[in-house]
Amino acid sequence: MSIFGGIEAGGSKFVCAIASGPQDIRDRIVFPTTTPEETIGRAINFLQHGEEKFGRLSAIGIASFGPLDPNPASGTFGYITSTPKSGWSHYNFVGAIRSAFNIPISFDTDVNGAALGEQQWGAATGLDTFLYMTIGTGIGGGAMVNGELLHGMLHPEMGHIRIPHDFEADPYPGNCPFHGDCLEGMASGPALEKRWRIFPKNIPPDHPAWDLEAHYLASGLVTLICTLSPQRVLLGGGVMEQTQLFPLIRNKVREFLNGYVQVSQILENIDSYILPPALGNQAGVLGSIALAYHVAQ
Ligand code: ZN
Repeated sequence: MSIFGGIEAGGSKFVCAIASGPQDIRDRIVFPTTTPEETIGRAINFLQHGEEKFGRLSAIGIASFGPLDPNPASGTFGYITSTPKSGWSHYNFVGAIRSAFNIPISFDTDVNGAALGEQQWGAATGLDTFLYMTIGTGIGGGAMVNGELLHGMLHPEMGHIRIPHDFEADPYPGNCPFHGDCLEGMASGPALEKRWRIFPKNIPPDHPAWDLEAHYLASGLVTLICTLSPQRVLLGGGVMEQTQLFPLIRNKVREFLNGYVQVSQILENIDSYILPPALGNQAGVLGSIALAYHVAQ
C-alpha cells in the first residue's frame, strides 16, 4: 500500500501527517508557523522520521496558505508569493522540500487541497463541480470545476469578493488591508471580534452577530453559486464551528436567490446542499494527503 506525506501549511500553524487515507493516519504533528527555515525544517524532519518508521513515501502533498504559485509551468512554481507574513514572501516552499525528498510533490492552496480531500473521502464524493469555503482567520475558497481543481491565472481569491454593505445597519468598516469591506473584511473571525468586541467563540448562539454573519456569508455564497453552479457547498473553518450558522445561511441563500435557480438542491434539499466538511477538522491535512495521492498516480 502507498503511503504519503502531507503538509497543511497555515498562517499560524502547520499540521503534517503520514497517511494512506483517513482510516490510516500513521503519524501526525502540529507546530506553530514561525520562520520559513525553522518551520520547514520541522516539517522535513517529521517526514524523514516517517520514512524511517513506515517506509518510503510515494509522494508529498502541500496544501498551503497563500497567495502562492501553483502553476508547474511557471518560473516561480512552488513559491509563496506576496504574503505580508514576515519572512515568507517569495519563499520557495517546494524547492525547500525537494532539496530533502526526490519524489513527486504536489502544491496547491489549502482550500483546493481540502476540496480534493472531500471529493476523495468526504462530503463531495461523486461530484465534479463543488465549492469548499473556509471561514476562520481569513476566508478562502477552493473549487472543483468539471472534475479539475480551479486555478486559472493563479488561484481564486473567493474571500475577497465584494458584498453589499449597508453602513447604516452596520457601520463596521471591515478589516481587509486591501479592500476594507470585502467578504473577508466583514465576515472573518477577526472581523467578528473587532465589530462586536467579543472573541467569536464567546459570542452567545442567540446574539445578533450570527444573523449578520450569515447575511454576509450568504451574500458571498450567492455570488459564487451563480458564478460556478456548484453541485454542493462545504463550509469549514473555525467560525463555522458555530453550527447555528448553517440554518441561518441556508435560509438567507434561498431568500437571496428568490426562486430563480430552479433546482431541488436549493428549493427542497438545501440542508444537504450547504454542509460542513465530512472530514471535519482533518479536512486540511487530509487535503494535503489527497494532493499527494493524485500526484503519485
Ligand atoms: Zn479583501
